[in-house]
Amino acid sequence: MKKRNIKRQLIAVLSAILILITIPQFIFAQKKANVVILATGGTIAGAAGTGVQSGYTSGQVTIDAMVNAVPDVLKLANIKGEQISNVGSQDMSFEIMLKLAKRIAELTAGNAVDGIVITHGTDTMEETAYFLNLVCKTDKPVVLVGSMRPSTAVSADGPLNLYNGIAVAADPNAKGRGVMLVMNDWIHSAQTLTKVSTTAVQTFMSPIRGLIGTTAYGVNEYYRYPYSKFGAKSEFNVDGVTKLPRVDIVYGDVDMSADLIDASVEKGAKGIVIAGVGNGNMNKAALDACTRASKKGIVVVRSSRVATGNVGRNVEVNDDELGLVASADLNPQKSRILLSVALLKQRNLKDIQRLYYEY
Ligand code: GLU
Repeated sequence: MKKRNIKRQLIAVLSAILILITIPQFIFAQKKANVVILATGGTIAGAAGTGVQSGYTSGQVTIDAMVNAVPDVLKLANIKGEQISNVGSQDMSFEIMLKLAKRIAELTAGNAVDGIVITHGTDTMEETAYFLNLVCKTDKPVVLVGSMRPSTAVSADGPLNLYNGIAVAADPNAKGRGVMLVMNDWIHSAQTLTKVSTTAVQTFMSPIRGLIGTTAYGVNEYYRYPYSKFGAKSEFNVDGVTKLPRVDIVYGDVDMSADLIDASVEKGAKGIVIAGVGNGNMNKAALDACTRASKKGIVVVRSSRVATGNVGRNVEVNDDELGLVASADLNPQKSRILLSVALLKQRNLKDIQRLYYEY
């Protein structure tokens, strides 16, 4: 009899402990994250006359309408929205990118906001994502979301992308992974992603380095952290910056003319990125023009028009002798962003080369 009482008491005590442990966890699990959507325009906010036409106008739909298309996001997070711009991303500018960076810094400074979602056109998403990855100091998730089909299309991809993007921005496990892009169930790092199809829904890839993770109807899985520097470890700062130095990209091809390189110098570029052939190569005329530019103090970076692979220093081009920089694994458009931000400060070529290895 006594034994049975002790057993009962033991069960009662254990049950009480279990309840005490579980209740706070339950309450915590109920606490929704606060996510702010910063809308910039793009196809995700685009509208067409019918559901099956390819012509449409970017940036027609408000944040409320985008959220209303996926009311389930309100179960994931408390949502607030701000319209930063309303452009197709071919019209994205450094001015808007600086505005975004400033607003993200303000919003993420305190405890009121847990994550940021930026809706953006896909054309120049990689530039904005990479720029923000360089200059935003927060370790809170900053997630870019877009779509390939306008909101009015049959099988529009925007609503689910927005849902998944909010799920990542609201997720504590997404912290410390830099600026990300969420589209078509994949979570990319800003450093690795690139647009590979003009029209396909699966347009973003992260070649060689691979994905940060995946998300399926808001269930996220993470595979890795970015390997490059970003966030608090980044040395770049755009506080108070209103303009970035001019950096031009010149496309390399067979029998290329040096005229565009010379014109870029004449027009006052502070840096030139060559989208070279193969391992950042170019013909002798172009190489001579790059050497001339370098002697005038213009920073010339050799990147590649090839979709994947590193551009190595001193491989077929003697960078040491000619005063050039190799882009390592950055494509021309990201090389341009890094150089624009780097040139906010006086730097020597050795230091600029280091940046290409580290970021
Ligand atoms: N040109 C548009 C843009 O970048 C269309 C691309 C898109 O958003 O999918 O905003």
